[in-house]
Amino acid sequence: MVDFAETPEEQMIRSTAGEIADEFGPEYWREKEESGEVAWDFWDELGEAGFHGLLVPDEYGGADMGLQEMGIAMETLCAEGCGMAGTWYLVLTAGMAGVGIREHGTKEQKEEYLPQIAKGDIKFCIGITEPEAGTNTLNVATKAERDGDEYVLNGKKCWITFSDVADRIMLVTRTTPVDEVDRPTDGISLFLVDMESDGIDVSPIPKHGINYSNSCEVFFEDVRVPEEDMLGEEGDGWWTLVDTLNPERIAFSAAATGIGKLAAKSAVEYTNDREVFGGPIGQYQSLQFPITEAWSRMETAALMRQKAAWLFDNGEDCAYETNVAKSVAVDAGIDAVFHSMQAFGGWGYAVEYDVERWWREINLTRLAPVTQQMARNHIAQEIGFPKSY
Ligand SMILES: Cc1cc2nc3c(=O)[nH]c(=O)nc-3n(C[C@H](O)[C@H](O)[C@H](O)COP(=O)(O)OP(=O)(O)OC[C@H]3O[C@@H](n4cnc5c(N)ncnc54)[C@H](O)[C@@H]3O)c2cc1C
Repeated sequence: MVDFAETPEEQMIRSTAGEIADEFGPEYWREKEESGEVAWDFWDELGEAGFHGLLVPDEYGGADMGLQEMGIAMETLCAEGCGMAGTWYLVLTAGMAGVGIREHGTKEQKEEYLPQIAKGDIKFCIGITEPEAGTNTLNVATKAERDGDEYVLNGKKCWITFSDVADRIMLVTRTTPVDEVDRPTDGISLFLVDMESDGIDVSPIPKHGINYSNSCEVFFEDVRVPEEDMLGEEGDGWWTLVDTLNPERIAFSAAATGIGKLAAKSAVEYTNDREVFGGPIGQYQSLQFPITEAWSRMETAALMRQKAAWLFDNGEDCAYETNVAKSVAVDAGIDAVFHSMQAFGGWGYAVEYDVERWWREINLTRLAPVTQQMARNHIAQEIGFPKSY
């Protein structure tokens, strides 16, 4: 039975997210973007609202909810004023590390990390991407070699968001090199590495937007990690990782429709006021229709995101639905911001109207966490095309 009615919990999450977004609106993010400061007061507010703990089981102090509720929280935060930050400050710790530990952590790891995640007392970054491997995650080369009851890490990651301020990194390594395994998915192992460990060096990469956080190169030189910091089974880390990648894509799907709706609402408001030829420019269908069309596609994408989240929350395979939701949400969101910026005319280029910042923010969603092409590769295979790579 399909039921589109929101539960009282979902309504509560939506209204709380709306209140937070009222407090941390576009002006706040304009200042953070300019100053390059991490928004710790926003982080703390998400903690007060219980959002860091949405996916944490209640026995560890969380709300024991699912990606369905997390998607609503993220999309609403983004759409009601926070832009990308509404997803950015929740996806890595609460979304990925929290889910990875919840699903694959040892009893000790759950007891150590989940209560801290729920309270917002610990920050994770996620170390997947490497300069040589790129999109081909199975080619990661960061090595983890056993030495007694420790592992020694050597390698290099890039673009690791929040790695300059995180307490721990959920790190993707190889305990067996790719050319020595039967299947390329074998030999990958994950660790929850203390970012204070000797031998870790972090260097921010200057970037196009989302400057209220740094994304960095991270170097590992003979970093020693106790064996109990491995997440999941040695050599089986690929499957642990996959369980965190679908939540990340669902989160970015919520970000794309959220930012797109924020820009569109802002354009509607502006074009109702702005008069050029004796009436509001918003009356011209050449301004209305491109935004309306993108809006309709965002609404459709949001439904697919909800289906993907429902499947994930019910322990079903959700990869196909997740990639459909992500690719459609991103295309629609980008079109919404593009046409909203056009509706502002020259003022769309001015920092004070924010739409230029949302344009820089939404551009990331076509490149990360999975590129639009790689999402389409997945869909292409699912509908029967031969694998192209
Ligand atoms: C701001 C920012 C924050 C990020 N944060 C993190 C983070 O916290 N943690 C992390 O691990 N990573 C992070 N990333 C990395 C991001 O996930 C990667 O940049 C992304 O996955 C693409 O990898 P790449 O840049 O190496 O592109 P490449 O793999 O070099 O790909 C380049 C282009 O080729 C295309 N391409 C490659 N192979 C195929 C194929 N088979 N078929 C069709 N097209 C193909 C790609 O789609 C892409 O358009 C972040 C990136 C950015 C920009």
